[in-house]
Amino acid sequence: MPNFYQNFLKQLDRALVLDQDMQKQSDDFKTPQQIWERTILLKKDNGETIELPAFRIQHNNWCGPYKGGIRFHPDVNKDEVKALASLMSFKTAVAGIPMGGGKGGVAVDPKTLSVREKDEVAREYARTFRDVLGPTKDVPAPDVNTTSREMDIIAEEFGHPAVVTGKSIEHGGSLGRDTATAQGGWYVLSALKEKLFLDPETFTVAIQGFGNAGATFADICVRHEVRVVAVSDSKSGIYAEAGLDVAAVHAYKESTGSLVGFPGAQQITNAELLELECGVLVPAALESQITEENAPRIKAKVILELANGPTTVEADDILFGKGIVVIPDILANAGGVTVSYFEWDQNMKSEKWTAEQVDEKLKTHMEEAARRVWAFKEQFKTDLRRAAFYVALDRMIASKPIH
Ligand code: NAD
Repeated sequence: MPNFYQNFLKQLDRALVLDQDMQKQSDDFKTPQQIWERTILLKKDNGETIELPAFRIQHNNWCGPYKGGIRFHPDVNKDEVKALASLMSFKTAVAGIPMGGGKGGVAVDPKTLSVREKDEVAREYARTFRDVLGPTKDVPAPDVNTTSREMDIIAEEFGHPAVVTGKSIEHGGSLGRDTATAQGGWYVLSALKEKLFLDPETFTVAIQGFGNAGATFADICVRHEVRVVAVSDSKSGIYAEAGLDVAAVHAYKESTGSLVGFPGAQQITNAELLELECGVLVPAALESQITEENAPRIKAKVILELANGPTTVEADDILFGKGIVVIPDILANAGGVTVSYFEWDQNMKSEKWTAEQVDEKLKTHMEEAARRVWAFKEQFKTDLRRAAFYVALDRMIASKPIH
């Protein structure tokens, strides 16, 4: 699989070429400001103590406190956390929120942990990084295999809700956070639909990944009477040219645990899903899914990257050559971190916003970000990824503290 961090560096280099002054500052963006690598000691239920490698990487805080999730996964490593931390700085800057970028992780397989042990990893993470986290320093959130439960534990450990976002509503979480990534992606797509020549009456959608981001996006499409022709999960995909009954897909997946055998649809592979004829292809699963190998066979008109890092730079060039518009992750999925910022803002001000207030603010932020990125794409006659990186660089440089 292509190296995720190297791919980020290539994306950055391609945007820096747009502006010589920015190029001179490239080191500021290629190297995280702080890399914290520590060891968590976990006392297992059987009395044994094990050591777990743990990371917090703080990429850039010129726009505000570092912001980014904590991942629990056996494959967590420094390079992956660096890539994710770097992307967060660009994402918060594109979204125009006063936050920077960071990310954390613990190299552990949560499937091997009891509930108590997993809670303990979260608590120990808070204790281990107590000196570098804080409401005005660095504000984590959930990521792969972490949820509101772990965030509630970290907030309790610090005694302040604003130290993390993605908490349960009872512990200071925000309404609308669970649907924010997909909803934000929808607002970006809607803001650009005329420029993309997408007719909502006729365009179709294929979604890779039927989890939080992908399944919520499918629901939003249904609400807007947009046909979802294919979805997939890690095991398989399903396709129906006339459109899937998304509510029935949810019920089927809930009762059987997968999409295999869903009635009234054709079974397809994940590879086939990516190559379907459709209006909008939505990668919402893993990184590095669209590469130079399969990009020549992609037939969608638009790719909306709800996943982080699903397209390699080599694939970007092939897609651009074919006239396929890629709406990049740092714009397309920035709705999640935007509502995370709203949660932090509510906690800092001791306020509680209604779902309608959150949604209205999210819409405004995402539409504004989409229009701004499009304007730079036109100005530089480039693709949306370079334009989005440019917007983010421009904003970070303008916020750079003067020492
Ligand atoms: P999730 O765990 O809820 O869902 C992931 C989905 O991908 C599941 O349906 C899973 O079965 C599927 N999947 C796993 N391996 C696959 C494979 N090999 N092929 C096809 N499908 C596969 O995760 P999520 O929160 O929906 O996140 C999905 C992507 O969106 C990730 O890249 C994540 O970083 C990104 N993202 C999520 C958020 C958020 O708020 N949830 C925010 C920004 C970015």
